[in-house]
Amino acid sequence: MNPDRLFESLREEVKKLVPSDMNISSIEFEGPIIAIYTNEYDKFSGDDSIARNLAQGLRRRVDIRPDPKGLEDSSIVDAKIRAMIPESAQLFDINFVPETGEAIIEAINPNEVVGKEGQLLSEIKKESGWNVKVIRAPPIPSKTVSDVRGYLRANQDERQAMLEHVARRLARSVLEGEQWVRMTTMGGFRQVGRSATLLTTRESKVLIDCGLDPNSDATPYFGIPEAQPLSELDAVVITHAHLDHCGTLPALFKYGYEGPVYCTPPTRDLMALLQLDNIKLGFGESKKVPYEAQHVRKEMLHTIPLKYNETTDIAPDIRLTLHNAGHILGSSIAHFHIGDGLHNVAFTGDTKFEKTWLFNPANNRFPRLETLVIESTYGGHNDIQPSRADASEEMKALLIEAMNHNGKVLIPVFAVGRSQEVMLVIEELMRTGQIPPVPVYLDGMIWEATAIHTAYPEYLNSQLRTQIFQQNENPFLSSIFHRVETSAMREEICHSPDACIVLATSGMMSGGPVLEYFREWADDEKNSLLFVGYQSEGSIGRTIQRGRTDISFNNRGKQIDVNIRMNRVTVDGFSGHSDRRQLMKYISSLEPRPDKIIIGHGEDRKCTDLASSIYKKFNIETKAPLNLETIRLR
Ligand SMILES: [Zn+2]
Ligand SMILES: [Zn+2]
Repeated sequence: MNPDRLFESLREEVKKLVPSDMNISSIEFEGPIIAIYTNEYDKFSGDDSIARNLAQGLRRRVDIRPDPKGLEDSSIVDAKIRAMIPESAQLFDINFVPETGEAIIEAINPNEVVGKEGQLLSEIKKESGWNVKVIRAPPIPSKTVSDVRGYLRANQDERQAMLEHVARRLARSVLEGEQWVRMTTMGGFRQVGRSATLLTTRESKVLIDCGLDPNSDATPYFGIPEAQPLSELDAVVITHAHLDHCGTLPALFKYGYEGPVYCTPPTRDLMALLQLDNIKLGFGESKKVPYEAQHVRKEMLHTIPLKYNETTDIAPDIRLTLHNAGHILGSSIAHFHIGDGLHNVAFTGDTKFEKTWLFNPANNRFPRLETLVIESTYGGHNDIQPSRADASEEMKALLIEAMNHNGKVLIPVFAVGRSQEVMLVIEELMRTGQIPPVPVYLDGMIWEATAIHTAYPEYLNSQLRTQIFQQNENPFLSSIFHRVETSAMREEICHSPDACIVLATSGMMSGGPVLEYFREWADDEKNSLLFVGYQSEGSIGRTIQRGRTDISFNNRGKQIDVNIRMNRVTVDGFSGHSDRRQLMKYISSLEPRPDKIIIGHGEDRKCTDLASSIYKKFNIETKAPLNLETIRLR
């Protein structure tokens, strides 16, 4: 069957399933969504059950929309909607997309717009005649979030064309006959960095992650015949925004990929932030980044965001569901249901199986699971880390000690993940009077990354979510935090005689504002340097951490010599990765138990060690492939 005939038969089915009195003006196919346009929108807009029943009957996502021809002028509707929204919602903006009849309301408290059991929202829909949607405006303004949202609105036409293209690909005919599934490791196996795996069926090709090796700038093996031409890929799925999982993605668009990218909404925003920053860093260090800002923008236009637990067709024979991975904001385990029950495989990406200050532990329940692909960053038998609670206690003792000497504490951090956890720990310690109140300065991209966290509280653990929902208890908005915005301010903090805490990027001290503070404070033994994140072999951070007393490094083209007398401490236990015990516990708790486990995202010995331990303990077939291997799954 060609796409047009499949679309025709789907249209017939839709007509059979909708209420007989619904007047349909057209039925369109947008990527994985069936859009039904009606000129009596107000009659049906209050009833969610119609779309739900349709989705179940068609096994597709369905959106019922008003016929654009019958829409009332947006400026009049804007006033109407504003009059209906209560003050408590803290309305931020209303944007109109006439092509789809959408009116997108951005509010600090979206629940106040939705109302009890969705009542206010359906009244607004009825009254306005528009397809009203509500999204959360970040309580801390985020340039990234508003740029991404604005860019998508401004390029609605190109996006619509892309979605139609995706819908046609999804509707292509599938051959009868023997089916099979296999995966090819294109990067990030027996190593950390440049993660990429190609999942191939007889019908389709899907790429999972498209990373960059942050140390060598190596990219995945795109030259292999099964990955070419890029235009034949059905989809790219990104597990999370760290560059070792998405740092090469914009280059795909540079070299001819025109298809969709599936990831969670926060991953989309964080990914743009980190990729654009990577381009900037590249300029500073005259490194060659394999893409430009225009390719990041194209990637944004091609991203189809998926929430956790929302199942979507991404190829004629593959359905994708993203689940919480517990690692960073929006991080997901990608679960693929292939064929009609032919095979189920899940890729954990990076994963944390412990409740952290920010997230719930990784999801370990799947409807079906035959193969699991899991990371092994801390998969070696000695990789045991303290719990979050122990780590926080240790940090408390160190901070008290430093404050007693009126010293300064410098904490090198990655902008996304660790910074926010450390902020939460310090905020609680100060709020409850366990450590003296001193100013906490945030320098680098930390503030922007924090703002993105507050835009998506649904992705945080339940406690933190509740705190953020109650505006005046949002810990990230605490008055102890100060954002360093100018070099004059940085200079002032550097030379101030008072105690303070500074969180600054980069996390491995390879550049960024952290070096400015370090240079000023290093020769005073009252001060402390606190490591909370992974320091990779060969990084400046690792050299300093190991106890060298003199160091010279290059900062923005200048040679700098530093004599180190400041106190150096490492607090383990803030990692976003599962340690060895958590990985084993994750596997023993998995439901259902997979038949096969494939191990990647770890140094050589960690991969093989974890593989043999899992086999011995659980009697499950394991593999620790090298890059460029193909494994048949079914
Ligand atoms: Zn990661
Ligand atoms: Zn990673």
